[in-house]
Amino acid sequence: MTAVNDVAGCLGCDLLAGRRELPGGIIHQTDHWVVQHVLGPLNLGTLIVAPRLHVVSVADLPIDAAEELGRVLRDASRMLEALCEPEQVYVCQWSHGESARKHLHFVVQPVAADVVRAYGGRRSEQLQAAMMVTDYEAPRKQVEAFSERARHWFRDDAG
Ligand SMILES: [Zn+2]
Repeated sequence: MTAVNDVAGCLGCDLLAGRRELPGGIIHQTDHWVVQHVLGPLNLGTLIVAPRLHVVSVADLPIDAAEELGRVLRDASRMLEALCEPEQVYVCQWSHGESARKHLHFVVQPVAADVVRAYGGRRSEQLQAAMMVTDYEAPRKQVEAFSERARHWFRDDAG
């Protein structure tokens, strides 16, 4: 489904509209939100939760999208708890571009002991900052396999 305010050239809108390929495909979707695997240098299992609409701040969310958000973040976090055995699941939102606010997207990131170890014991925003300056990208086959397991969790185990 294409958003009514689809913005060509916006990564979030381009993914939703199919103008850009999404490895692993859509994991879960609701009336207002889409859950997918992250693109770029965060660890395997890290999710992006983005609104279908091109909205650039939490303050601008339609009320029904805002009301649905808590459930979506909770369910995405529960799935990661079930599949990843994390020390913690991070939920954060930046969407801060150089020249403008970007399409709103929450990062829901499972951080297990091996990830902390690989980054010298860093945690929280210091861990993310260290990850974001690498050119790491989770192997595509692993992203596809994870996304499939995640879809099964939403189909069979969410509730
Ligand atoms: Zn957008």
